[in-house]
Amino acid sequence: MLDKYLLFTPGPVNVAASLRHAICKADICHREPDFDGLLARIEQKLLTLFEIKKRNRYRAVVITGSGTAANEAILSSVVGDGAILILSNGEFGERLHKTSIIHNKHTHLIQQPWGTPFDPDQIAAYLATHRIDVVAMVHHETCSGMLNPLAAIGALTKAHGAIFVVDGVSSVGAEVVDMEGCNIAFCSSSSSKAIGSYPGLSFVIGRKKQFKKLKLHAAKTTYLNLATFYGFLKQHSQTPNTPAVPLFLALEQALTNILSDGVTNRFARIRARADQLRLGMRKLNLEFVLDEADMCAILTTVKVPPSILVRDLRDRLREKSIIIYEGKGCFAGKVFQVGNIGELSDRDIQFFLSTLRDVLLELQAEAADVVAPIRPKAINPTIPALTEPMLATLSS
Ligand SMILES: *Cc1c(COP(=O)(O)O)cnc(C)c1O
Repeated sequence: MLDKYLLFTPGPVNVAASLRHAICKADICHREPDFDGLLARIEQKLLTLFEIKKRNRYRAVVITGSGTAANEAILSSVVGDGAILILSNGEFGERLHKTSIIHNKHTHLIQQPWGTPFDPDQIAAYLATHRIDVVAMVHHETCSGMLNPLAAIGALTKAHGAIFVVDGVSSVGAEVVDMEGCNIAFCSSSSSKAIGSYPGLSFVIGRKKQFKKLKLHAAKTTYLNLATFYGFLKQHSQTPNTPAVPLFLALEQALTNILSDGVTNRFARIRARADQLRLGMRKLNLEFVLDEADMCAILTTVKVPPSILVRDLRDRLREKSIIIYEGKGCFAGKVFQVGNIGELSDRDIQFFLSTLRDVLLELQAEAADVVAPIRPKAINPTIPALTEPMLATLSS
């Protein structure tokens, strides 16, 4: 065992030492200028991370709650009495749909099997024949690793006069999300994935013009009402309720770290790590669920080799301090997922690959022992050799 776990997951992640210091830096009150300044700096850093060009047209609210809180804030705040179309090709698309039907009577769904790309023609035809005000899509569908096309869907929604909202929880911080170029009104993300901070905060970045329109809708929730968040942000640079202040300190540090690397360098480094892992895993004859061209840079979804149980693989890796994910839903038992975000060094990647090789060999050898036919050998002629019926009794 190492003295810590190496989190090869899509979040939570191993955080940088600077974040451990930042989180316990100071006790500050969220109704004091200290917090106003902290939130204002986080907001500016988020706009920089998103590489927004017309910065005065966008704002970002920060919510105390994991990524689902930001998604629920969007889904409950932007649709009003209108109609929303959810595009789903995986677990998180399905979760958007489940959340939307709680808040929005007119929720439509276009669904693809997990890991299957959307068909833009089908979506265009649907928009042409239905009145849709909002289209929602997950950018990186974490269950399969598929990166969905922001530009294509953004252009379709614009052509049909709908607004486009995006779940960027697992892509922001590793992949470009061009709010301006892709016609995105609101995008959600969270602190604990590619941004590399502790879990517990999420945020919604959006066009100011769209934030202003939110107060026209009747409120559907108290805590997650985006219009209320926007009001407090605009007037005081604060949050409506008590925020998890220490997590804000850590989030600011995480953003500072990204920006001091440079956004482009940061994205390239995460991609290089994914490439390193993928090359290493291909050398172990492992196969991936998706073509590499369709994958996001933050994780790889790998088929479980025959004769190995994913649960055993996960347990054995944990014994060596490595944490991976198991597939869920229709991928359960069939795939495992290897993330490459957070503080992972080149040495950690090499350690992962060599440990994975050892564990796979170990498990395959054990499986071979179990399934290898018992070769009847009549060493002592007085003991009869095992016959087929006897073998059947042994294995039953
Ligand atoms: C992780 C994730 C979420 C949010 O999950 P939480 O458990 O609330 O953090 C939402 N969407 C996607 C695509 C995710 O990967």
